[in-house]
Amino acid sequence: MSSKAKILLIYTGGTIGMKKDFETGALKAFNFSKLLQRIPELKLLDCEIETISFDKPIDSSNMNPEKWAKIATIIEDNYNSFDGFVVLHGSDTMSYSASALSFMLENLAKPVIFTGSQLPIGDLRTDAKENLITAIQIASLRENGNAVVSEVCLYFEYKLYRGNRTTKINAEHFNAFTSPNYPFLIESGVHLKTNPELFLLLKKGAPLKVHKNLDKHVVIVKLFPGISETVLAAIFDIPDLKGIVLETYGAGNAPTEEWFLNLLQKAIKRGLHIVNVTQCSGGSVHMGQYETSTGMKEIGIISGKDITTEAAITKLMYLLGQNIDQESFKNVFETSLRGEIT
Ligand code: ASP
Repeated sequence: MSSKAKILLIYTGGTIGMKKDFETGALKAFNFSKLLQRIPELKLLDCEIETISFDKPIDSSNMNPEKWAKIATIIEDNYNSFDGFVVLHGSDTMSYSASALSFMLENLAKPVIFTGSQLPIGDLRTDAKENLITAIQIASLRENGNAVVSEVCLYFEYKLYRGNRTTKINAEHFNAFTSPNYPFLIESGVHLKTNPELFLLLKKGAPLKVHKNLDKHVVIVKLFPGISETVLAAIFDIPDLKGIVLETYGAGNAPTEEWFLNLLQKAIKRGLHIVNVTQCSGGSVHMGQYETSTGMKEIGIISGKDITTEAAITKLMYLLGQNIDQESFKNVFETSLRGEIT
């Protein structure tokens, strides 16, 4: 085997590979082989790169669990032949996808790094080259024959983050992502500065398990002052609904009105799983800290603690696909599975 790291570049679409449609002026994904021609620098990297592309590259607004399963299958099929994986993906839903893949790939011992860009690779001022080149370099890092990074990450604008801790915060700045409740893992400056104490611990010898069965019977509900019983009741009554991510205020607070708690309680009795996450971009849910969350704690609402909404909804889909029994579900959800909760 060659001593150079072997990296598989998986192209799903996104701005990085887009160009302007002549007629409409809108950005559209274009053919992957052309993308590679535009980055001759890749040949200078000290690793071997192979590429694979979605047949039809997509804008990441069209991402969904079936396509996550496609990415997971590509990684599964090529797992033993490569040292690391770089997934080129649109930034719009990248945090959802990185979160989903973190749950789908259990016992991951190799890097899976999502990246993309705010400007197409063909644009003079593009951020794509730095993102792509450094993501590949990080995926190639090895120490004593082992991968330095062995989790699902997101690399953007000089920072490597744990994927399931990220959220997209800006549609304009190159610095489009943040990880509000967990520090970045690596910073790219003159050198790559790694913070190994923050990396996920590897379960030595445990084989990769790939979970592709995600349950889509879920919804995110964001509270706002004035949300009505009619609206909430209609959502909670959706046939086959199994899980709700409830975005509450501050440290997990919500109205104390009777109709509100009754609605939640009835839903839980019917077997629905309701996860409390905060609307704040940072910080954690602490049910019981205020009177406005005590009622929810008492009726068995799940605490999302400091999880992002992106990680909460994908974790819900993943756990619902695992047939976990009703009694253990809350406990399992509140446990950190891939470093998504502090
Ligand atoms: N709309 C694009 C996408 O998410 C934006 C991007 O790639 O940054 O696919």
